[in-house]
Amino acid sequence: MAVELNELRDQIDAVDKQIVDLLAQRLSLVEKVGEVKSIHGLPIYAPDREAAMLASRREEAEKRGVPPQLIEDILRRTMRESYASEKDSGFKCLNPELRPIVIVGGHGQLGGVFKRMFELSGYQVKILGSQDWDNAESLVKDAGMVVVSVPIHLTDGVIQKLPKLPDDCILCDLTSIKAEPLAAMLEVHAGPVVGLHPMFGPDIPSMAKQVIICSDGRAPETYQWLLKQFEIWGASICAIDAKEHDNGMTLIQALRHFTSFAYGLHLAQENPNLDTLVQLSSPIYRLELAMVGRLFAQDPNLYGDIIMASQHNIDMIKRFHHRFGEAIKILDNHDKAEFVKQFEGVSEWYGDYSQQFMNESQNLLKQANDAIHRGK
Ligand code: NAD
Repeated sequence: MAVELNELRDQIDAVDKQIVDLLAQRLSLVEKVGEVKSIHGLPIYAPDREAAMLASRREEAEKRGVPPQLIEDILRRTMRESYASEKDSGFKCLNPELRPIVIVGGHGQLGGVFKRMFELSGYQVKILGSQDWDNAESLVKDAGMVVVSVPIHLTDGVIQKLPKLPDDCILCDLTSIKAEPLAAMLEVHAGPVVGLHPMFGPDIPSMAKQVIICSDGRAPETYQWLLKQFEIWGASICAIDAKEHDNGMTLIQALRHFTSFAYGLHLAQENPNLDTLVQLSSPIYRLELAMVGRLFAQDPNLYGDIIMASQHNIDMIKRFHHRFGEAIKILDNHDKAEFVKQFEGVSEWYGDYSQQFMNESQNLLKQANDAIHRGK
């Protein structure tokens, strides 16, 4: 039996080597695609091409008795790699006439990401860091665009402190809140203004499929090239009014980060053995630990600022706290019937989304499980 098994394993190894060769071939083709896209200014993420390609590979796989989801998983993972490497060929510069871009806070995490991307696209980028204010006037005097990317609680003050910018200079920010910075920018600068919120952190492999939120300020016709430039980088633009954005972020960021914070605080104070918890984890709990734990690997000031950005956020968190208390009453009363009733009510509210989320999370869990190594 051992001989038979070894022979089969040798054959599998040979096939795997072929897969590696094919992947190398595919990646080198992708590199060429990157070069062509860079020359012609085409976005690195082409949703229609991606959907059509996946559909035909699924069909071909099915005909060969290969599960369609298997080829889709392999290709999606390969495409992620491709998106990350496509940026190596740089990007077409959509506004070559633009005078230098000045990033205030450009040595920081997100400012650094945008500095790299602008430079990869052929723009000249200067940084106005916290120690550079003595030179601020000369740094911005010929700026074509000024990007503010400093900690949230300093943003307003930094915008107020900016020297006078050239009339046609675009002033924008990358802050996680939008209404206040946008109002401050409109107040200090009479030229084009736009509020931006990249919905990602500095740890993304590429901007493909990432969302950049855009709240118009003034003279939108003057910065359409910028939004197109982001699309070339692979990002999707989501236009929204600044106040509406901030209301959405109350749930999407403030409440979510706060519940992670409170859960982490609770874990730390209960002080279970984390190694044991990890070992005992179901895949979903492992993901939950990761989602909560990743918060504590990041900058507490950024999250403190996001959570406490407005009274509206704090009021929402307090309402959540109140509902938590109401839900606890069900437990105190050992009222299973009430639990089921409330559960069904929420399920109804989720509607079709609950099944969609079930499917999506199943895929995530399968991928999380693939990454686990149980050996020593
Ligand atoms: P960061 O702390 O990494 O960078 C901020 C930079 O600003 C630092 O280099 C700091 O030295 C500099 N700075 C501080 N005071 C300054 C001053 N007075 N003048 C000039 N520079 C000054 O923070 P970050 O995570 O890059 O966040 C920057 C902005 O990006 C914030 O508004 C944040 O809301 C937004 N943002 C961050 C993320 C993220 O995940 N990091 C995601 C989306 C949006």
